[in-house]
Amino acid sequence: MEIDEDTIDLRSDTVTTPSEAMREAARDAEVGDDVYRDDPTVNELERRAADAVGTEAALYVPSGTMANQIAVHVHTEPGQELLLERESHIYRWELAGASKLSGTQTRTIDAGDRCVPTPESVREGLVEEDLHRPGTGLLSLENTHNYRGGTAIPVNQITAAAEVARDADVPVHLDGARVFNAAVALGVDASEIVAPVDTVTFCLSKGLGAPVGSIVAGDEAFVEDARRVRKLFGGGMRQAGMIAAPGLLALENVDRLVDDHANAERLATGLDALDGIHAPEPDTNIVVAHTEDAGITASDLVTACKDAGVGCVEFAEYTTRFTTHLDVDGDDIDAAIDRIGDVIAELA
Ligand SMILES: *Cc1c(COP(=O)(O)O)cnc(C)c1O
Repeated sequence: MEIDEDTIDLRSDTVTTPSEAMREAARDAEVGDDVYRDDPTVNELERRAADAVGTEAALYVPSGTMANQIAVHVHTEPGQELLLERESHIYRWELAGASKLSGTQTRTIDAGDRCVPTPESVREGLVEEDLHRPGTGLLSLENTHNYRGGTAIPVNQITAAAEVARDADVPVHLDGARVFNAAVALGVDASEIVAPVDTVTFCLSKGLGAPVGSIVAGDEAFVEDARRVRKLFGGGMRQAGMIAAPGLLALENVDRLVDDHANAERLATGLDALDGIHAPEPDTNIVVAHTEDAGITASDLVTACKDAGVGCVEFAEYTTRFTTHLDVDGDDIDAAIDRIGDVIAELA
């Protein structure tokens, strides 16, 4: 669907378009063949990305999905189990890639409302290899948790879940597509969230505003393996400095994520005040709105909002997601609340 210009597009934080500075950086980027590791801009981005999450090394890849799938492929053997939370992105939204691309069997943890796997739930989910059982190859966690509404999971809870796996010699991956949103919301450095895990994925193309690209990071040995798997998955890019240059500018957009969080809170407060819609206070930039009491389905709400000039997405039968980002400001949020208010009044 093409979105019309007056629409306040809250479908995702992926909808941002590159700033003038990003376009200029792309045009002026120093480039080389990155498969030969000759692209200085990509090399710099990988160094700066590793620094930003406190890992030894990092790899630039086309998408968050590829970043996660590379991590699964490097950490596991075909037939091993991949343990993850049942609403996690890797399980729900990546086309069963872990089984198709890496041959893993998925075991899910039910981590309750906020999707924070407890040490007990991880212990219960781990499978020890024996004559009958394949063994767990990887535990994957997610922070912020997308489907639960951008919940920021505190460092001690990530640590507690990760320790159980690592004590059993099972590596831990963090799908940190929005890990900087978590860091900003929790008031910690992203490296503190990443410290308890082995590898991490994050997106440059979401709240940070880059047009393309994600990072998968870990120690040197992991990134060396990951580079081979990126090639295997068709993600070896040539003069990628053209898209990495805006990515470098995106890394400077971490601190301003507080604005997105404030706008999300403003939106949730505004929506929650309306009759027929319930929107709990968000941790970060994702607002999840429930319309079950008014009997309004998300599908009807999304269609009516689109007609009224607000972009949003269906999350469940009566649940709709609104995401704030760097292309919307407080006035847009107030206008969105007004438009959604009219829509609800009409549908209820
Ligand atoms: C968006 C997202 C991804 C995938 O990133 P893409 O760049 O869209 O492939 C992975 N995990 C989480 C939690 C996400 O929100």
